[in-house]
Amino acid sequence: MNDSEYGFETQAIRTQLERTQFQEHSVPLYLTSSFVFEDAEDMRASFTEEKERNIYSRFSNPNTTEFVDKICKMEGAEAGYAFATGMAAVYSTFAALLNAGDHIVSAGSVFGSTHALFVNYFPKWNIQTTYFDINKPETIESCIQPNTKILYAESPTNPAIDIIDLELLGAIAKKHNLILIIDNCFATPYIQQPIKFGAHLVIHSATKLIDGQGRVLGGVTVGREDLIREIYLFSRNTGPALSPFNAWVLSKSLETLAVRLDRHCENALKVAEFLESHPNVNTVKYPFLKSHPQYEIAKKQMILGGNIVAFEIKGGIEAGRKFLNNIKLCSLSANLGDTRTIVTHPASTTHSKLSVEERLAVSITDGLVRISVGLETVKDVIADLEQALN
Ligand SMILES: *Cc1c(COP(=O)(O)O)cnc(C)c1O
Repeated sequence: MNDSEYGFETQAIRTQLERTQFQEHSVPLYLTSSFVFEDAEDMRASFTEEKERNIYSRFSNPNTTEFVDKICKMEGAEAGYAFATGMAAVYSTFAALLNAGDHIVSAGSVFGSTHALFVNYFPKWNIQTTYFDINKPETIESCIQPNTKILYAESPTNPAIDIIDLELLGAIAKKHNLILIIDNCFATPYIQQPIKFGAHLVIHSATKLIDGQGRVLGGVTVGREDLIREIYLFSRNTGPALSPFNAWVLSKSLETLAVRLDRHCENALKVAEFLESHPNVNTVKYPFLKSHPQYEIAKKQMILGGNIVAFEIKGGIEAGRKFLNNIKLCSLSANLGDTRTIVTHPASTTHSKLSVEERLAVSITDGLVRISVGLETVKDVIADLEQALN
């Protein structure tokens, strides 16, 4: 059987480095900053890239290579590079590909620090971003300018859990010759593979569901080989590389990604259904609930609904704050995609400094609560939410 014919789980588990002389079963950790050369000729050929090999762990390391290879197989990508954090992946991907004067068209709701890059930092280099309204996909093309180079989106979005039609983005990118980049962090490659729909690059914060246990930070960009080459050369010189230890942890995590996600999503659907039936809840957003406005699109591009549930609590900011204060089992934390269920109410916490209008611009209503459903016994999670809602 050809390697690429193996199923998702087999690829996640059996994609690994050659064994060393010790015949270890599990991939060892290569904590080494550099690698040695046989002689002058070996060193010369390595630096001119006539030879593909590890030179220095800022460029590559066996553990980061193993991690990247697995993500590439899972996403159907040609190549990739691993970063110390998800934001290092986002920043380096844009910085490597853009020139001063280039333009980005992005979905109107993106991760907070990505938004900060677009609004506070890229304009310093005369790189401007135009946001499209994710609920009006017919307006995307009108945002494109002659200098637009990148089309960017996350789906599902954070924190509102809207779904963006990846096939539509793929078609628009193709028609206008744009690089389509998708941050696939909320879905993971198990649930959604954007390259199938025309994405050229896929970014992950591996900190979230890929690690899945709230231990390490990491990021990765995978996709078309020529684009990854640019990103690799930029990163090799600027130094945002993933540490071998974190790569080793993340690579182990990938072996259980499918089983973890199956349970995460099963629990999340139960939590979403419970919330829909609760009198103190106005609306619930979960991609695989029939009531989700983009349910049909979610079904087209995702195999499961993910682990994040968003809902509108009745009573706005005050009710949200009270709800958080009454939570007992679940955690109030900034992370998501952990084994532990995490509850956030952005309007009274992370986004409390913004005006109502500024919050609405990033899809945060006063009553919006986001739950990252974990792997605890689901009835315990539901009981905690129920007593806090009551
Ligand atoms: C968390 C997150 C990031 C940033 O990842 P870090 O590992 O925290 O740097 C980027 N995009 C999305 C969608 C995220 O949720």
